[in-house]
Amino acid sequence: MSKKPAKNTEQNFDITIIGGGLVGLTAAIGLAQSGFSVAVVERAPKGDLTAAEYDGRASALAFATCRMLEALGIWRHMEKFAQPINEIRVSDGPSLLHLHFDHKALGEGPLGNMVENRHTRIALFDRVAELENIRLFQGKEVETMERTVEKIVVSLAGGAQITSKLMLGTDGRNSMVRRSANIPVSVFDYKQHGIVCSIEHEIGHEGIAHERFLPAGPFAILPLTGNRSSLVWTEKSHLVKTIMALPERSFAAEIQRRTGDFLGKVKPAGGRWAYPLSLQYADAYTDTRMAILGDAAHGIHPIAGQGLNLGLRDVAALIEVITDSASVGLDIGSEQVLNGYAGWRHADNATLISVTDLLNRLFSNDVAPVRAARDIGLAVVNEIPPLKNFFMSHARGTVGELPKLLRGEAP
Ligand SMILES: Cc1cc2nc3c(=O)[nH]c(=O)nc-3n(C[C@H](O)[C@H](O)[C@H](O)COP(=O)(O)OP(=O)(O)OC[C@H]3O[C@@H](n4cnc5c(N)ncnc54)[C@H](O)[C@@H]3O)c2cc1C
Repeated sequence: MSKKPAKNTEQNFDITIIGGGLVGLTAAIGLAQSGFSVAVVERAPKGDLTAAEYDGRASALAFATCRMLEALGIWRHMEKFAQPINEIRVSDGPSLLHLHFDHKALGEGPLGNMVENRHTRIALFDRVAELENIRLFQGKEVETMERTVEKIVVSLAGGAQITSKLMLGTDGRNSMVRRSANIPVSVFDYKQHGIVCSIEHEIGHEGIAHERFLPAGPFAILPLTGNRSSLVWTEKSHLVKTIMALPERSFAAEIQRRTGDFLGKVKPAGGRWAYPLSLQYADAYTDTRMAILGDAAHGIHPIAGQGLNLGLRDVAALIEVITDSASVGLDIGSEQVLNGYAGWRHADNATLISVTDLLNRLFSNDVAPVRAARDIGLAVVNEIPPLKNFFMSHARGTVGELPKLLRGEAP
């Protein structure tokens, strides 16, 4: 494996990553830790990505994801911003039937942690700075990409040319890497937006996440450090412009109405963001000397807080596949190696993609018989401990054929 190259215009790396978001930077760190030299091309300047106004989201990171971030030396940079999720309470509008998950039932650690994306990004940049064999090309646009059976050459605006054996597309839902390979993508527009903001409240949240199903869709109240929570308010798209333009007092009143009084008086803290929600999945995850990961490969509804967790499972699987292959002398960009990644991840992602889609359709629906059936479903699951434990293990991300990193081991 090659060492960090000199800063000339033609540079060689083992791997080029296009897109330095949460998935791309985690991949770079894991690959560098396995001894590969990595170039990361990110179009946004670092200052933009870590600014408070860039991304108002906080992510529920499953227990297994946190274990992976720990194994990669990232967790220690973000731990102080993490709020453990001890319980999840699911309720359907005014119905008295509900579902309650408590981590104590499994006798293990929390179900996961809530961390604001901004803090995760800062932690990733801090970890990248500790690793010699990652080179960031930040604030740079890709001008051309040439893929042949032997190598990949990426040319950047401004003259730099990066040659490598493998290119990873972690450039999000509108992935240029995916489009460049003409990989078809299926898209379903939910005609919903996720309105996101943080709130401060009088009463502590006790580490409990609440998911309420309201007629327009799920309304999630997710615990952050201190007396703060992150809201994901799913709303019909045609109403979002009006809600986003509400004066602060009216916006606060709408939030209080949906939150209820269990947190006492609540008030929005900081900005508001609105994300269009859709389901999309790529038909293939690989092509000649390239693979796509994270939202570039699959974008799902945030109803179960699993999109980033899935992307990081892609990262863990890919790192394991190519580290194993390199150790027996295989070409890391070969079809044989990349098929190992694609086969593993297609099967795992397909299940969660279908489940989140089904959940959103079922719970963003106010038809009386559907409401009655889902309420009975919640109550039944709540009364059957093995079924509850099964769902909790899924929320913790500890189910399925786990790559080593998700078990907290080096790949
Ligand atoms: C409202 C909401 C709440 C969510 N909550 C959760 C949650 O609780 N838990 C969870 O697991 N997931 C959650 N998700 C999903 C999660 O946010 C995404 O799955 C995750 O951000 C995807 O990360 P990514 O790195 O793949 O893509 P992105 O975050 O889109 O990053 C892509 C990066 O690539 C860069 N880029 C794009 N094009 C180029 C190019 N041509 N050249 C160079 N760089 C480029 C971009 O600037 C960006 O930095 C939520 C999503 C939404 C909408």
